[in-house]
Amino acid sequence: MAAAGTLHAPLISVRSVTFSYGTGTALEAVSLNVAPGDRIAIIGPNGAGKSTLLKAIMGLITPDRGAITVVGDRRRLGYVAQHEEVDWNFPISVLDAVLMGMWREVGWFRRAGRAQNAKALAALDRVGLAELGQRQVGELSGGQRRRVFIARALAQQADVLLLDEPFSGVDIAAEADLLAVLRRLNDEGITLLLSTHDLELAREQFDKVLALRRKVIAFGQPREVFTREHLTQLYGKRIIAYENGAPAEIFVDEHGCEDHEGHQHL
Ligand code: ADP
Ligand code: MG
Repeated sequence: MAAAGTLHAPLISVRSVTFSYGTGTALEAVSLNVAPGDRIAIIGPNGAGKSTLLKAIMGLITPDRGAITVVGDRRRLGYVAQHEEVDWNFPISVLDAVLMGMWREVGWFRRAGRAQNAKALAALDRVGLAELGQRQVGELSGGQRRRVFIARALAQQADVLLLDEPFSGVDIAAEADLLAVLRRLNDEGITLLLSTHDLELAREQFDKVLALRRKVIAFGQPREVFTREHLTQLYGKRIIAYENGAPAEIFVDEHGCEDHEGHQHL
């Protein structure tokens, strides 16, 4: 590799990744570079491949074709799964949930020492949950639970967060809190890559937007991505534009996937 290339090396590089679960193709020739400090929203209808892409970057699934590289290694990546994929009834305190993520440091079957406890508490403090360490995770609100998982990733020294629909199923106030936490972390240098079906949130709160529907429809600054053409490609006929000259007024049936029952959020 040329030295000039490494100077601007992306933190995460997804190159022409194709993946199929066996049925249809979930991702087709998807390419994407994530730079340090990026704040990226992935949008697309249900079934578009958003979760699959995040899992592929995490290394939870292996692409059929293409490659994904992460500068350093994947230990710098923290992952917050879509909440339907997490068993929230698991009886565990907030502090233990964070400590459990630190098993590499603590060791399996070993009790966390004072230093690790302090680290876990510091991580909880960064997400505004320092007071709730002794609570059961199951007693927390949806927004607080997402923050526990973010704290867990931070305690593992993650500096890149991959969040799968972190705002789904949380109320407006909790969404604002979560967003504030994510913005603060991003200001501190944490790279953010998250999926959402909230187009307005993606447009207003993120530096870059990836429009995904099995393939990359568009990737760039919100104003480049939120064009009528791209949104029509993304959502097909279901898009209803209350257009007043600008695509800013676009309204979308957010469960606009043709072949998927779609979870009802909120
Ligand atoms: P999104 O997160 O954008 O809703 P997904 O990545 O979950 O999309 O899904 C992409 C496609 O892969 C969909 O067609 C979905 O039905 C399919 N899919 C997702 N997970 C599985 C799985 N575990 N087994 C089989 N098919 C799956
Ligand atoms: Mg998903």
